Amino acid sequence: MSDELITRAARDIVKAKKVVALTGAGMSVESDIAPFRGKGGIWEKYDPVEYAYIDTLRTNPAKTWILLSEMQREILKAQPNPGHLSLAELERLGFLSSIITQNVDGLHHEAGSKNIIEFHGNHRQAYCMECRKPIKSEEISLETLPPHCDCGGVLRPDVVFFGEAIPHEALTQSDQETRSCDVMLVVGTSAEVQPAASLPGVARSSGATIIEINIEPTSFTGYTSTYFIKGKSGEVLPKITDIIKNQSANLTS
Ligand code: NAD
Ligand code: ZN
Repeated sequence: MSDELITRAARDIVKAKKVVALTGAGMSVESDIAPFRGKGGIWEKYDPVEYAYIDTLRTNPAKTWILLSEMQREILKAQPNPGHLSLAELERLGFLSSIITQNVDGLHHEAGSKNIIEFHGNHRQAYCMECRKPIKSEEISLETLPPHCDCGGVLRPDVVFFGEAIPHEALTQSDQETRSCDVMLVVGTSAEVQPAASLPGVARSSGATIIEINIEPTSFTGYTSTYFIKGKSGEVLPKITDIIKNQSANLTS
């Protein structure tokens, strides 16, 4: 991890008028939630595009729930890590406008962040595919898959499956945030899942500085990203936040 780039990031954040974070599954790896891609990713066991495809949920919900039940167990026992807490602190201190997250684990909420756009929904909430009655995921028994509602319908988490559209409100809000920021922090995302993966390019074209934080380079690195900080989000973000807290007056000079 480069100390020079950490200080540069702190300075860029302090000098910016509006900072937005785009976060992906890498952000929650240090909370013990497996990402899709990369080492230890769900992809090593299942192909999420096949298991979490909307047609698979409709025609073979038991198959989709094999993946969903694993994710649900991990998500319900996870706690926010120092990366989530740092973003919440940056917002409290007035240095972060919003978080656009692809994550469905709700950990930004748990960490205390307020202005969160959940691009792919939230796995802590579910509803019946027949009667639409909502239910909290923690109340769903995973003993027999797929889980059912009292009415006999199959339950599904309130997340966006492959093949489904992103909710309109999340799209318009994230587009506004992306076009109006002058710094975008791109944290722990593999830049593979569209349309979220197009947001850093839109921000860059609108003049924003793109600071990418990841344990390995992605297709943004060296192209869309202005600079790349190699490291774990749970280590890099607290370092940046500490510098901002302790030296914000010096950073603006
Ligand atoms: P991804 O799984 O495709 O990629 C994860 C990225 O995080 C990789 O680039 C990897 O190098 C990086 N990474 C791993 N550990 C890291 C760490 N400690 N610090 C920083 N970076 C780290 O993730 P994606 O791009 O978000 O796309 C996957 C989709 O799957 C998302 O849209 C999301 O809806 C869903 N998903 C969500 C969760 C969750 O909610 N936590 C988990 C898995 C998948
Ligand atoms: Zn029902």
